[in-house]
Amino acid sequence: MENIRVIKGDITKQAVDAIVNAANSELKGGGGVDGAIHRAGGPTIMEACRKIGECPTGNAVITAGGNLPAKFVIHTVGPIWGNENGEEKKLLASAYHQSLLLALKNNLKSIAFPNISTGVYGFPKDLAANIAIQTTRDFIKFHTTLHVTFVCFDDENYLLYKNQLD
Ligand code: ADP
Repeated sequence: MENIRVIKGDITKQAVDAIVNAANSELKGGGGVDGAIHRAGGPTIMEACRKIGECPTGNAVITAGGNLPAKFVIHTVGPIWGNENGEEKKLLASAYHQSLLLALKNNLKSIAFPNISTGVYGFPKDLAANIAIQTTRDFIKFHTTLHVTFVCFDDENYLLYKNQLD
């Protein structure tokens, strides 16, 4: 059995080792899932982000999880569709890959992803789902102890992931 599952729900409620935040490169917080995570997790997450400073697109950093049920938050910066000189797909794959690598480096066993870049950043949802699943499958083939959950907030994303994972 592959260690990948999809659920429909709110990522801030997930009791996993780390949830992933779709952050911006200034790590300053914002709307969407980023705002939800900072609201639910409390101010210590933002304090930690401020100390880190910034994070380039396609990269990831880790902080503690504050008041969240998750122990850690991995903040990754997805690409803005149409704004990355044709590098959007590569940068989205990199955001997933770097997040998975950080989980591994920190000995984490479970990680939950939102649908990075598919909100305000405008990445086409079907293409983003393909990239997310492919990158994750390639990674956990070699790192079989890691459990990955895709937490979809909307029906369209949920169905896209479900169709590929069933
Ligand atoms: P981006 O700027 O990377 O596009 P957004 O936060 O605008 O980030 O959207 C990314 C995805 O996160 C969207 O599919 C959105 O529906 C979803 N989302 C928003 N709030 C939550 C939440 N609480 N839990 C999980 N996913 C969420």
